[in-house]
Amino acid sequence: MSARPHDHHDHDHDDHEHAHAPPQPDDKVHSYYQILGIALKELLIEKGVVTAADVRRNIEARDSITPANGAKVVARAWIDPDYRARLFADGNAAAAELGFSIANTKLVAVANTRDQHNVVVCTLCSCYPRDLLGLPPAWYKSRAYRARVVREPRAVLAEFGTTLPDDVAVRVHDSTADMRFLVVPRRPEGTEGMSEEALASLVTRDSMIGVAIVEPPEL
Ligand code: FE
Repeated sequence: MSARPHDHHDHDHDDHEHAHAPPQPDDKVHSYYQILGIALKELLIEKGVVTAADVRRNIEARDSITPANGAKVVARAWIDPDYRARLFADGNAAAAELGFSIANTKLVAVANTRDQHNVVVCTLCSCYPRDLLGLPPAWYKSRAYRARVVREPRAVLAEFGTTLPDDVAVRVHDSTADMRFLVVPRRPEGTEGMSEEALASLVTRDSMIGVAIVEPPEL
């Protein structure tokens, strides 16, 4: 793991602790960073840099990104060895082949194998492959996950119900502001005849973060 410079353009700040008034019934208590964000947005609109509709469209586009996008990448890598090679060589280009644009960050795909299991964290904040998987789950941003998964990954994985054999090495990847990881889980046994679409439906968000494995289809 390496510590790299972080900027904060792509992070949530809702896990910062600030003293503030108790919540009101109308839920209008904003954190310092929420107020800063609102002020910046209002200023940009006032100056004519963006419109309110631009902001709305952008939020809508962001919210439409789901783990199903990443699942399509994984399923393609399972069935197409050439695509798999391209994915590990250049994650951004491989995602773009399926129509998923990843801007400003490098996507690094890491393969789970018989001998090695990969799990992803951002120890400093909440860096996550949002352009491919959408918003991270709340636990991914929690201090407990960020601190513990690097110290005792097997114990954390076990809490997610993922118990790995002792001879499987666990590798933890620390995300940065400019590098995001996609775990390519192992293809489960008994899926040889399945279509690409059916395979994609097996791939979960958590399996692409690395806290879960992909379960075989229920018969
Ligand atoms: Fe981060």
